[in-house]
Parts: sequence; C-alpha cells; structure tokens
Amino acid sequence: MIANAARSRRVVTTVRGMPASDGAGVKLNRLISQPALDMLDPFLLLDEFRSDRAGDYIAGFPDHPHRGFETVTYMLAGNMRHGDNQGNSGRLRAGSVQWMTAGRGIIHSEMPEQEDGLMWGFQLWVNLPAKDKMIAPRYQDIAPEQVPRLEPAEGVELRLLAGRIGEVQGPVTGIATAPLYVDLRLQPGTRWSGDLPERHNAFVYVYEGLVIVGEGESACALTRGELGVLSHGEQLKVAADGAPARLILVAGKPLNEPVARYGPFVMNTPEQITAAIRDYQSGHFV
Ligand code: FE
Repeated sequence: MIANAARSRRVVTTVRGMPASDGAGVKLNRLISQPALDMLDPFLLLDEFRSDRAGDYIAGFPDHPHRGFETVTYMLAGNMRHGDNQGNSGRLRAGSVQWMTAGRGIIHSEMPEQEDGLMWGFQLWVNLPAKDKMIAPRYQDIAPEQVPRLEPAEGVELRLLAGRIGEVQGPVTGIATAPLYVDLRLQPGTRWSGDLPERHNAFVYVYEGLVIVGEGESACALTRGELGVLSHGEQLKVAADGAPARLILVAGKPLNEPVARYGPFVMNTPEQITAAIRDYQSGHFV
C-alpha cells in the first residue's frame, strides 16, 4: 500500500493565474511565468486566453520573433490565423494544436480570424535543450480530426495531443522533452488514472468544474482556474465530483540546463540572448 502511494502523483503546489496582456493588447490569464510559478522545467510559460469580448483579443499578436524554444497553441474555441516570415501559414480552429519549434528563429504573427464570439485556448512554451536551440524551425499543425479521442471508461473522454497513453500515440512527434499533453473531460462522478513517465515534471490545469487529484490523504481538490504542480511518480489519478470537469495534463522531461530569457528569446547564457537580439535587429531571422 505504501509503495503504491509513493508512485502516485499528488499536488505539491497550487497556483492561480494572474491577468496579463501580451501581443497588441490581448488579455490573458498567465499561469506559468509569473511570480507564483516562474517556470516548471521544461515549461517556460502557460497562458490561457478566454474571452467572448472581441476587444480582449482582436488586436492579436502581430509580427514578433522567437528563438530557442517551442510554442504550443491548443484551441478550445475560435479561429486563429498563423503566418511567418518563411511563407508558412495556417488556420487554427477549435480542437487544433500547433507545435512550433522556433529553433534558431522565426518571425510570425498569430491573429484572430473572427470578429466576435468566444476565443478560448492555451499557449504553452516548451524549452529546447542547448544542442537544439539553433536547429531549423519546424511546424506540426495538427487538425482536430488527427487528435486521437479515447474513451477509457464511461463518461471519461481524453484527447491525446502529444505523448502516449497505453498503446495510443499522439500526433505530435520528435520533441526533445518527450512531452505528454492530454485534454481530459470527466462526467460527474467519474475517475481516470493514467501512467506517466516517473521523472517527468508535470502539471494539471482545471479549466472547468472541480477535479480531485490524487487519492486518500494526499488528495487535493482543484477548481476552475487552478493549476496543480505534481510530485514525481508513475501514476496520476483524477476524479470529478458532482459536475462535469475539464482539465489539461502536461508532462515533460526536465532539461536541467541554465536558462537565460528575455521576452521571446530563451537561451542558456546572457551572451546568447545578446546575439539573438542582434541577429533579430539586423534582419538575420530568415
Ligand atoms: Fe508567437
């Protein structure tokens, strides 16, 4: 019993987001990269954008650079147009995920493709190991119908964006930090337990309802808007109470490398940040 409990993950820290504004004035709820949670190696930032007021999102994210990490956009509602300085473009819609490996650098824009209605989703920043920071940029644009939808139990629905659950592999591949990214829906009174790589850092974020994470004495209830940083362990147990609940579960292999960050550049040393700014300003992000 004790050995079993030791392998099960529990919430070690609960974090609430703080209001933030980014791009040309998009209103965000910043969960990672804020005073309460600076980062969770390899995760550098997590924003939730959710509004049905066009004024909160319509200005979007006009042209801006990235170097040295990956941005992952997962849409729950609404439409976003993505374009970059290398001629890539695409449309993100509800259920889409875009895993963008910025590598040595891109300049892109992320603009709403709607004038009203609900816009809801997440952007996660995932660090790259030192050896990969200057690789060529790469996109994985995943349409909603390419995301496996599992129903491991009655009333439990799981969308697997990245990583492996049982024998099923998510559509995002070849990521250095071997991430797991799952979107879970639990009907009232249901529960789910899943296996996770034991040493990955992981968090859950509840975006609807209430979720009980863990079990027994270490169980912790998280409500809408709360992020739980998880202990290490092989298994995660979550349960809904009397109402439907929705959450994301994200896990990744920590890099344990020095982090030097400045805005949209995330490198290992201050000198590399200086070089990134110089390259960008002199037009070398091509
Ligand atoms: Fe961006």
